[in-house]
Amino acid sequence: MPELPEVEVSRLGLMPYLPGRRIARVVFRTPRLRHDLPPELAARLTGLRIESIERRGKYLLFDCESQQEGGWLIVHLGMSGSLRLVSAAEPPQKHDHVDLVFDETTLRLRDPRRFGTVLWHQGTTVDQHPLIAVLGVEPLSPSFDGDWLYAVTRKRSTPIKPLLMDSHVVVGIGNIYAAESLFRAGISPLLPAHRIGRERCRRLAAAIRETLEESIAAGGSSVRDYVHSDGGAGSFQIICAVYGRDGEPCRTCGTTVHALRQAGRTTFYCPRCQR
Ligand SMILES: [Zn+2]
Repeated sequence: MPELPEVEVSRLGLMPYLPGRRIARVVFRTPRLRHDLPPELAARLTGLRIESIERRGKYLLFDCESQQEGGWLIVHLGMSGSLRLVSAAEPPQKHDHVDLVFDETTLRLRDPRRFGTVLWHQGTTVDQHPLIAVLGVEPLSPSFDGDWLYAVTRKRSTPIKPLLMDSHVVVGIGNIYAAESLFRAGISPLLPAHRIGRERCRRLAAAIRETLEESIAAGGSSVRDYVHSDGGAGSFQIICAVYGRDGEPCRTCGTTVHALRQAGRTTFYCPRCQR
């Protein structure tokens, strides 16, 4: 599943090519993904110029002349989606469901499982769209730091890991990133959030940022391949210290890495390094 770093790498990969370009044609090859793809959406997008591409959580937000009766194209890659820039002449493959055609270049959405989202939001800002308005803070934004994390955890007795994965609190920290960040910070995923002191909150916030940024950097080195090639999208990952390593020795202390179910997800941690 594409996580925040993959979505951010898509955004970074598309930014040099799309802003300033006008959508010449829109092709929908399926009536719906997660939501309906109404034919009038294709007509509405045609002729609009893309001004910039932003991201909130795992949503890509294409600013389509929002200042001039335009709006925002909201794209979510769902479980299996990927975006590629291809030559307009390249024939679509089986799961290529949406094309935005810009002269000689086409932005193509491939989504085998069809859980992706392509929606329109009219207006100058997109913050109040129901899907966006409910999102928590961006972990890569300046507002996310140890002091913020300390404040938000004071009255919460829920274990820290499911709290980190709650997109109403903070967006884009998937299971892998939560596990790896907690390991780096030396914090048990089972620890009630309000019991984590200010200094450890600072360490955790820094670990989350580092983990996400390293993953973006790992993908960032192949940005051109990512947006031009015909596969491999969303497949880069950090080298995991604990995630997926249950039964194996911790690389720091040699203790066996544990796995357990927590809020419906598998949690991996080192019981010695993480307290
Ligand atoms: Zn350990």
